[in-house]
Amino acid sequence: MWRGLIEEYRPFLPVEHATPVITMLEGGTPLLPSRLGTPYGIRIGVKYDAANPTGSFKDRGMTVAVSKALEAKASGIICASTGNTAASAAAYAARAGFRCVVLLPARGVATSKLVQSLASGALIIPIRAPFDRVLRLARQAATRFGLTLVNSVNPHRLAGQKTVAFEICDVLGRAPEALAVPVGNAGNITACWLGFKDYRSAGRIDRLPRMIGVQAAGAAPLVRGRPVSQPRTVASAIRIGRPATWEGAVQAIAESGGQFVAVSDDEILQAQVALAGEGLFVEPASAASVAGTFKLAREGAAPSEVICILTGHGLKDPEVVLARATAPRSIPPTLDALASRLSGTPSRR
Ligand SMILES: *Cc1c(COP(=O)(O)O)cnc(C)c1O
Repeated sequence: MWRGLIEEYRPFLPVEHATPVITMLEGGTPLLPSRLGTPYGIRIGVKYDAANPTGSFKDRGMTVAVSKALEAKASGIICASTGNTAASAAAYAARAGFRCVVLLPARGVATSKLVQSLASGALIIPIRAPFDRVLRLARQAATRFGLTLVNSVNPHRLAGQKTVAFEICDVLGRAPEALAVPVGNAGNITACWLGFKDYRSAGRIDRLPRMIGVQAAGAAPLVRGRPVSQPRTVASAIRIGRPATWEGAVQAIAESGGQFVAVSDDEILQAQVALAGEGLFVEPASAASVAGTFKLAREGAAPSEVICILTGHGLKDPEVVLARATAPRSIPPTLDALASRLSGTPSRR
């Protein structure tokens, strides 16, 4: 039985015997083959990290960060968030019996993420500024009010997030040829790369993957090589203009011989639909990893095997889907009405 990522990967994590483990048995998420790469003659596998307890990969880092905060006898935690860090921090803080302060940009946080933080009893404070400014405030507030900052600049967050690389290698028995990751604040791509390097040092794998970092075209500082002051994209989780772990991401791409890719919002939403066609409902930011892989494939530049990290659940951001769908009209409870509705609908295959 899966014991949660701290117990599964203890030797690779900064935990001691005495560290109190705050866990919801996160990690151990499905690694699935897909038909997505078939039209391009490549293999696309997906790591469905939406299956974590709060619906995003953020739980991987949060279990370690909150356990370490408890060990250090912190009085509470604080974070700046586009939504998923807040949802995860709020849940793990509740489990640890901690106070949790969440600073959110006043505009652009998906409703369901806000609802998750509210439900877990976090103190939510909307700030009238974009994410990068909110993060700066959270850093200052952590020092001033003696709270532990649990953004991905917290090294324990990155340590926990490395485990997604371990899990992929454990299932494949090797590293994949390439790993595609949506990039916002750039903590996750940095953590993934560190994870592969740790596994190679430990002799668990002998080859490292190419890293593909995917950003939204309107929020692509790493693709352009300079910060973006007004980041814009439908993918709120990667709407970040000044990534906090800039250097780590650049190093991951350089050392692995990989690349950054920018994709348009249309390409992101098309990839979201393609994933839904595989039964996988993800939020727009998650679909960026697949959109980036499709883009490389169209250019003939995709590796023959890519594992795409699906970072967050589709239920996190229903508005994006609803805005593009037409709500189905009701019919009377008769077989005739049903028959005429069915005849107007193409069957799937
Ligand atoms: C946080 C998040 C990202 C971006 O991860 P970074 O570590 O900030 O680069 C991508 N997708 C989802 C769903 C997220 O919650």
